[in-house]
Amino acid sequence: MDRMALRRTFGRFATGVTIVTCSTGEGVHGMTANSFTSVSLDPALVLISIDNKAKMAARLREAGHYGLNILSQQQMALSNHFAGRPGDQPIDFDWHEDIPLVRGAMAHLACRVKDVFPAGDHCLFVAEVVDHRHEDEATPPLLFYGGAYRQLHEMAA
Ligand code: FAD
Repeated sequence: MDRMALRRTFGRFATGVTIVTCSTGEGVHGMTANSFTSVSLDPALVLISIDNKAKMAARLREAGHYGLNILSQQQMALSNHFAGRPGDQPIDFDWHEDIPLVRGAMAHLACRVKDVFPAGDHCLFVAEVVDHRHEDEATPPLLFYGGAYRQLHEMAA
């Protein structure tokens, strides 16, 4: 199968953008991810899919937790930073117990890893949500579609 063509087909699914964060003996590590899926309300479960080659994969196994930080339309530079294109903007973290959260994100989920499923060249990290909060719905999200950042537009009724 043509991997690039498959990537373009996958890219036809529009998503939001998150930064996954965790803390280990090596300190706080963050990584941009759009594979976030809400899985279950009771119990509260979420899922992220992490490339085995990403540093984050080993860090998450060690940490046993992660923060999910959902980005607003104003935070494209932050997304690029945590995708390996570092910028010079200041980055601060807040904490839920030992779980780091990116200050200024429009929504946060603090999660404890329950299961790790190897899945091809990625691993699926299923986790229980132990805390969460969000800003009001007026804050527009950062979107990702077709390999590019996008903005939300309301549809006419
Ligand atoms: P690195 O590449 O070393 O680190 C990532 C960046 O974060 C570096 O620039 C580093 O300086 C910075 N950083 C890390 N910790 C800190 C800290 N404590 N303080 C300040 N800066 C810090 N990959 C996936 O596996 N799954 C996905 O779902 C996914 N979705 C993506 C969605 C988008 C929109 C984009 C742009 C990329 C996505 N990626 C995804 C790719 C992934 O973000 C990159 O491959 C990333 O570089 C992998 O990070 P790493 O863990 O290997 O660490």
